[in-house]
Amino acid sequence: LSDNYVIGIDLGGTNLRVAAYADGLEFLEVIQLPTRLSEGRDQVVRDIRDAISSLQNRNFSGRTLAGVGVGAPGPLELPEGIVRNPPNLTGWDGFNLRAAIESALGRAIELDNDANVAALAEQRLGVGRKYEADSLCMLTLGTGVGSGFIVDGKIQSGSTGMGGEAGHLVVETNDGLPCGCGGFGCLEQYASATALLRMAKKIMGTRAPNSASEVAALAADGDSLAVAAFEAVGNYLAIGLTDLINSFNLPLYVLGGGLSQSWHLFEPTMFAELRRRSYLYRLTEPKNRYPDRLERHKTYIVPAELGSNSGLLGACLLATPRQTMKTAESEPQLATAGRT
Ligand SMILES: [Zn+2]
Repeated sequence: LSDNYVIGIDLGGTNLRVAAYADGLEFLEVIQLPTRLSEGRDQVVRDIRDAISSLQNRNFSGRTLAGVGVGAPGPLELPEGIVRNPPNLTGWDGFNLRAAIESALGRAIELDNDANVAALAEQRLGVGRKYEADSLCMLTLGTGVGSGFIVDGKIQSGSTGMGGEAGHLVVETNDGLPCGCGGFGCLEQYASATALLRMAKKIMGTRAPNSASEVAALAADGDSLAVAAFEAVGNYLAIGLTDLINSFNLPLYVLGGGLSQSWHLFEPTMFAELRRRSYLYRLTEPKNRYPDRLERHKTYIVPAELGSNSGLLGACLLATPRQTMKTAESEPQLATAGRT
């Protein structure tokens, strides 16, 4: 295993990142290119192939390529790998991305939705590794709200691969804002960086700044209207988390993305509302929200540990054989604990 490396591809609407990765060494090399959507999808696939060839021409201490993993924007029909009406990849609807990349490379690939692979990275290398947690749900609060569910170390996205989209949980039914997915009132419209700025403009009027980070700076300085915008985000996050916690009863929910940097600004409202709304959170609320070790039968909501590389890392991990995290002695003990 140690003589191998894998290649991971983070295919975004703006950037295409291709990395060589070795277990325990992280990235050996990263290539970043613009995603040339205007040149057509076949050109993007050729760019992926060329970036991979150039990495394969390096001599990573004689390591051999063991696999290729790709994270791509959803909806992505799996296991086939067909792109379904993606808001970020105009003109790609119905495109069999897996077939196109596999035929360009002449080898099989691992493919999944970008938010799912980011959650996989957070489980194996971030918060999940820190807490030895095999299962978690991660929400990425960025321009939109992405999400991924990892259960027993595996990505869970339903029978077609297109589920697990907590960014499209409905959190507002009164005049819910239209969403890119075609629905209304989705979490993404109320808990993304875009949503924060929109709500700040509504609350602050002409005084509102032009970026989410400026709203955060004002709120950190105690501007009560900027604080109110973060409280609104905290409230909607609590509504979404209530549905997730009550449905899945996972031990760990992780919030990543740019907006999670402002954790302390939405945290008080989020936890207060969660306690008010979720019976299961009330029953499983930990005494210490940010412990060194997770207590069994508790529900934790914590910030992500990996930054903006989580999508690229996750694509690499898709192609990396899973390592057992627990020692041989702790396995049977945990299995017994689960039955009692
Ligand atoms: Zn939606």
